Amino acid sequence: MVDKNHPFIIVGGGIGGMTLGLALAKKNIPSLVLEQAPQFRETGAGILLCPNVFKMFDYLGISEQMTAIACFPDALIYADGLSGFEYIKIPMGKEVVTRFKYPYGSFHREELLRALVKECQQSPLITLTPAARIVGFEEKNERVFATSDAGITYEGTALVGCDGLWSLVRNYIIENEKPRYSGHVTHRGVVAIDKVPEHIRPNTVIHWDLPNAHMVQYPMGTKGMYNIVAVYKSVKPHQFEDTKGDPEELFERFEGARPEIQQLLAHVDTTKLWLLCDRKPVSHWSKGRMTLLGDSAHPTLPHLTQGAGMAIEDAVVLAEKVSASNGHYEAAFQAYEKERYLRTAFVQYFSSFYGNLHDADGIARDLRNEFISKMSLEEKYTWLGKLYNGIEP
Ligand SMILES: Cc1cc2nc3c(=O)[nH]c(=O)nc-3n(C[C@H](O)[C@H](O)[C@H](O)COP(=O)(O)OP(=O)(O)OC[C@H]3O[C@@H](n4cnc5c(N)ncnc54)[C@H](O)[C@@H]3O)c2cc1C
Repeated sequence: MVDKNHPFIIVGGGIGGMTLGLALAKKNIPSLVLEQAPQFRETGAGILLCPNVFKMFDYLGISEQMTAIACFPDALIYADGLSGFEYIKIPMGKEVVTRFKYPYGSFHREELLRALVKECQQSPLITLTPAARIVGFEEKNERVFATSDAGITYEGTALVGCDGLWSLVRNYIIENEKPRYSGHVTHRGVVAIDKVPEHIRPNTVIHWDLPNAHMVQYPMGTKGMYNIVAVYKSVKPHQFEDTKGDPEELFERFEGARPEIQQLLAHVDTTKLWLLCDRKPVSHWSKGRMTLLGDSAHPTLPHLTQGAGMAIEDAVVLAEKVSASNGHYEAAFQAYEKERYLRTAFVQYFSSFYGNLHDADGIARDLRNEFISKMSLEEKYTWLGKLYNGIEP
């Protein structure tokens, strides 16, 4: 059985790993979080969390702490980046709370992870170990073993790979296949809000769509910061390890965009790019006493802003199944993936679909602007409800 000397081993201390520690602790299950980085940290960029995620925060008893570090946009706008035509405008403030019971918020990733780490540190059931890059796994005699690159072996009762897109645990459980590059590259801009002219930064999430490119802008967190993400379909060949930005291609892709987009582009870091990747959905991601959670199980493109949301929901479901399993962890993991795979696959498929819709050109662009703008607000909320109503833990 799981005990303090044989905890649940969580490989990866990102948003998913931290939330899993908290969800297990809620069920009185000890865990050990092993993180490769020397500190538990996230990048400075923004992240949007939808009502289904706040519902999980409520379940975990951390709503107040999360609400304190969130910024709450009034609306979500999708606009044509050439004409300025707003083909979607959805109120996201109190209307969303009335409808879905929970808010829609934007966070500074650093603040979000710091808050989760603080919650974990306060629990006697969670041990956080940084600078532990796990390179080997073994399951033997109802125990699991994870070995770090420093040669330290950690022993536990079961193991959950929360180690992200490039998961090593996934290679052990499923396959040794690389993620899929979507053809999109992204540049980020994180800037003090007063550096952005006031008239182009309402308290709104704005999604500007151009042929083969889009930009997302929103205020985030508590420190007066503004988040800008520029995404485009690159025509150049890229290797997975590419991180060097190509300002020439970036500006070329946004040529002809509205002046406010050009102004925002000036705040984007042109030196560094990220390739957007996902993987094909799978229905099984467990083997024996090992399973996956979050991006290691079902990495998604960011176009529905639900990747971290799915990791957080996974954590709650996994802890529930483990707690109810009476020590039958293999069965618990199978029940967990069975409950999660359709919802996460939905996010994976539709994120990819919406990525293409945002970047539509020609007739597809006309059709998008015409068709979606004719949908009633009620129809839009109904669609969002598929995600925002969330799960019942
Ligand atoms: C541009 C962009 C925008 C996004 N916007 C949103 C959004 O608005 N809303 C949303 O919900 N989602 C968003 N996402 C998705 C979200 O960032 C991810 O889904 C989420 O971070 C996944 O969390 P995770 O804990 O599964 O993995 P990760 O955050 O990748 O964490 C994995 C952790 O494991 C560690 N690790 C890796 N390998 C090892 C090892 N061998 N040993 C030990 N530790 C290891 C890593 O260092 C890392 O700390 C976005 C993604 C991108 C790319």
